[in-house]
Amino acid sequence: MGVWMLRAMSPLGVAALDRAPRLGWVDAPSPLEAAPALASELGLSSLLVKRDDLLPALLGGGKPRKLDFLLAAAPFTGARRWAAAGAIGSGALVALSAAAEQLGRELDAHLFWTEPSTGVLDNLAFTASHAASLTFYRSRASLALTRPALLRGGVARGAVVVPPGGTSPVGMLGFVRAGLELAAQLRDRGEEPERVYLPLGSAGSAVGLAMGLALAGCGAEVRAIAVVERPLSTRRRVDGLARALGAELARWGVETPGAPLSLVVDHDHVGRGYAVATEEGLAACAALGAAGIEVEPIYGGKAAAALLADARGGRVSRAVFWHTARRGPLPRADDWRARLPPALRRRLDVTPGALAARRRLLLALGVGATGVAVARVTGYDADDWRGLVLSGPESRIVEAAAEALLASATAEQLRRVALGVDAYLRGMSPRGVAEVHALLAFVEHGTLLGGRMRRLTSLSPAEREQVVSSLARRGGLLRDAARGLEDLCALGFYQQPSTWPALGYTGPMVGPGRRGGWPTYEALGAPPGALPRAASR
Ligand SMILES: *Cc1c(COP(=O)(O)O)cnc(C)c1O
Repeated sequence: MGVWMLRAMSPLGVAALDRAPRLGWVDAPSPLEAAPALASELGLSSLLVKRDDLLPALLGGGKPRKLDFLLAAAPFTGARRWAAAGAIGSGALVALSAAAEQLGRELDAHLFWTEPSTGVLDNLAFTASHAASLTFYRSRASLALTRPALLRGGVARGAVVVPPGGTSPVGMLGFVRAGLELAAQLRDRGEEPERVYLPLGSAGSAVGLAMGLALAGCGAEVRAIAVVERPLSTRRRVDGLARALGAELARWGVETPGAPLSLVVDHDHVGRGYAVATEEGLAACAALGAAGIEVEPIYGGKAAAALLADARGGRVSRAVFWHTARRGPLPRADDWRARLPPALRRRLDVTPGALAARRRLLLALGVGATGVAVARVTGYDADDWRGLVLSGPESRIVEAAAEALLASATAEQLRRVALGVDAYLRGMSPRGVAEVHALLAFVEHGTLLGGRMRRLTSLSPAEREQVVSSLARRGGLLRDAARGLEDLCALGFYQQPSTWPALGYTGPMVGPGRRGGWPTYEALGAPPGALPRAASR
């Protein structure tokens, strides 16, 4: 059975939506390219890639399609100021801040924390460079609780709220048009794909696309790969959006098919959650990258992982992969970091990128120079600490600092930070180890410098974070001490394989050790009993 269905109405083309106002940002179709080499590698009889990354408007990607209609309609046409919420690395906020600049409007960007993975900092740098204001929230939940209007829509503090992901009945018209566009391209080429794969975030792209394909008489199934947690990607949400879109289309004289949309939401590839990369998603990025298709791991990687898994399982043979991401690289202001809200800047500072540069500072922190090496670490309860280099009390200092500085860490990860630091120190020179002992004594008692008469470990996590940031503000050696402490925490944290997927790091080239956790670097060494070359001569 072919995918082109007989319809009572004649199939619609993109002109069907011409009565609805739009900005005209998306005109010519984005390219539909065959990927024969990748198709045969995956065992597919045909693979086409819909290159929305090449759309000219707003840096490309799928978001300009929605904004093309959304921003041409009330209440956005009359509003000078917009507000929008998204993750710190949100692609929607990138497109919106570019749109605001282009149309001479101001954007209040409300950012919630997610782990910084590949591409997140690029997007954040762009948004920070272009948005009129930035507000930071510790999580999506705290944003939802403190500013519900940002998710609900309407007006928030004088700014018209852009719905999350740009998904609204009007915004989805952009993807209905995209579905009509793809159908026309497929018809021209005589292609009949069984499935169209794309990531599902706020679901507007997938619902609009499925509607557009249906209106064009194309029966290909839209496989929407959820990249957000289940409560945000339910069938009910999808069905509700489809109904609202049907009503919007009716306003423009477009009659919608009575049958349910051919749309399946696949929840099997989200992994630990939104904005956290998965191993299979990273592998899929690598596979597509080798074929010249650059996708990021947070959206496209997960959709590609589903495509690869289905191809291997023989569940699909003719597929379209919808490339939804923007192009890179993005321009950024030199001072973008300085524009971030301080709480967000502090949180980003404890990342491995900053780490390599600061490891040297840690080593440079001299015992004599701090002047507090004599401070003794005493008065703590005995515990079951089993490190080899750090004392039990020192392990508590590391843990206390990590709890304050690594807000995204789980309790289990925090418990292992000190062990990770201890393992790292085993390979350090005696002088380096002495410096770390001094550093820990300094930060524990350095709270006195901040006018506090209590030790760091006896403060609440929020107070501890304050102490460390006040050290950082004082500059010089005090700042170095604060950074050294952050480095130690990050070292202990990022040694843990459970933290790697969020970084886009796939792990060492050797397998994990027998007792789990530590990689078997021994496997890279010579077999037992082997002699150095010189000795065997
Ligand atoms: C926003 C986005 C999507 C998802 O679109 P929704 O309509 O929100 O489901 C897919 N890919 C990328 C790269 C995006 O930025």
